[in-house]
This record gives sequence, C-alpha cells and structure tokens, in this order.
Amino acid sequence: MKNIFVPSKGEYVKGKRPQVDCILCAIVQSDPQVTNLEVFRSKNFVVAVNLYPYNPGHLMIFPAQHLEEIEELSLSAVKELHQLTVVALKILREIYQPHGFNLGYNLGRGSGASINHLHLHLVPRYENELSFIDVLSGSKVIVEDPQETMKKLKEGFKKYTPELLGE
Ligand SMILES: [Zn+2]
Repeated sequence: MKNIFVPSKGEYVKGKRPQVDCILCAIVQSDPQVTNLEVFRSKNFVVAVNLYPYNPGHLMIFPAQHLEEIEELSLSAVKELHQLTVVALKILREIYQPHGFNLGYNLGRGSGASINHLHLHLVPRYENELSFIDVLSGSKVIVEDPQETMKKLKEGFKKYTPELLGE
C-alpha cells in the first residue's frame, strides 16, 4: 500500500514560515532553514519540487536571481527557461505518466501568489485526482512525499542535463 502524505499547509500559512526574506532565494543559497527540494540547476534557473505540492510531480522553475516581474527576464533567459520546461515535462511524463499539465505564473497580490520571487508552476494533472478531498477538508492528499519526488526527478534530470546544457 502506498503511503499517504498530507501536506501541512495550514501550519505554513499560520506563521511557521522559515525566518528568511525570500524562500526561493533561501533555496538558491542552500539555507538550512528551508527544506531544499532542488532537483536541478541550470545557468540561470533552479528547478525544485513544490514543498506543498498540488499533485505528485508539482515543480517550480525560478530564476536564481530574485526577480519579481516577468518583464525582467532577458530573452536568453526565456530561452533557457523554455528548454528547462521542455525537459521537465519530458521527465515528468516518463516518471508519472500524467494525463495533462497546468503551467503558469501567479503574478501580483490578487493572483493568490504567496511568494514574490518569480516562479513558473508545472503541475501534472491526473484524470483520477481525489479532488473531493479538497472540498471536504480544504487540503489535498498527496500520494507521494515530496522528498521522494525530488529523488526521482533528480535522477531524471541527470539523464537530460548534457542535452540541456548543449554539451
Ligand atoms: Zn527571492
């Protein structure tokens, strides 16, 4: 039987946030105060598993530099981000065989964004998601520990790194 991992987002929201200015910058700096779920780092970006995943395989891609606006990304950075996205989707398909993906940014206070640091969400979607649990408890049951997700995806990225880096 699979373990059921229940993320404690409630505690996070109620102020158990680590005492850092920016949680994504803290990941970039490998700050021991934050749970580091980094799976890959390219020239300008970090790919990390979301600590409170919406679904197994929920990734974030964010610039290593603290940027808040999408306009701040250079064209070469956008290209790198796109290449990373393509590779991440390929790896997620191999490992999780999702039925689809949601990709996107939450920008600004009205969007539901809880982190100012620009980050792209990659959320695998499955036809058999237990969405009723959302309704019943306001939280989501995740069928995989994010640490486990990180291990699997790290392996996946090793396989595609040379291609991604153009070597
Ligand atoms: Zn930051």
